Amino acid sequence: MDVFGKSKRSQVMSRVRGHGNKATELALIKFFRRHRFTGWSRHRPIFGNPDFAFPKLRLAVFVDGCFWHGCPRHATQPATNRAFWQKKLARNRARDRVVNRTLRQRGWIILRIWQHELTRRNEPRLLLRIHRIFGSSFARNFEMVSTNQGEVA
Ligand SMILES: [Zn+2]
Repeated sequence: MDVFGKSKRSQVMSRVRGHGNKATELALIKFFRRHRFTGWSRHRPIFGNPDFAFPKLRLAVFVDGCFWHGCPRHATQPATNRAFWQKKLARNRARDRVVNRTLRQRGWIILRIWQHELTRRNEPRLLLRIHRIFGSSFARNFEMVSTNQGEVA
């Protein structure tokens, strides 16, 4: 017995293959606004379809569903049709790794946010993570600019 019927499942799959789900995207938009992060845009045609990108920083942001991407804390093993789900979820994780590797090779910084990080309770930690990334990429950009101009920071 399958968890979803066939049509229901392909419906779920097609939603998953596209961009991150609406609720988590909206939660992240609110988060960006609340903390005055600017320069982001959504659904840029970038390899791996990140949910958000900060093009100037070359920062790609993915919001990963805990179930679909195998969060170590919340990934549950569906009780039925185990082989199907194991294969499916392993494929998702493999694809995430390919996307990470490819984007890094193209000079992108990757930020993957778990769905469970988008709660008020986990917000301080997420904020810290993002600030660290911003700090280092600002530094990197500044270095690039100062090198180009032949100046020392
Ligand atoms: Zn989780």
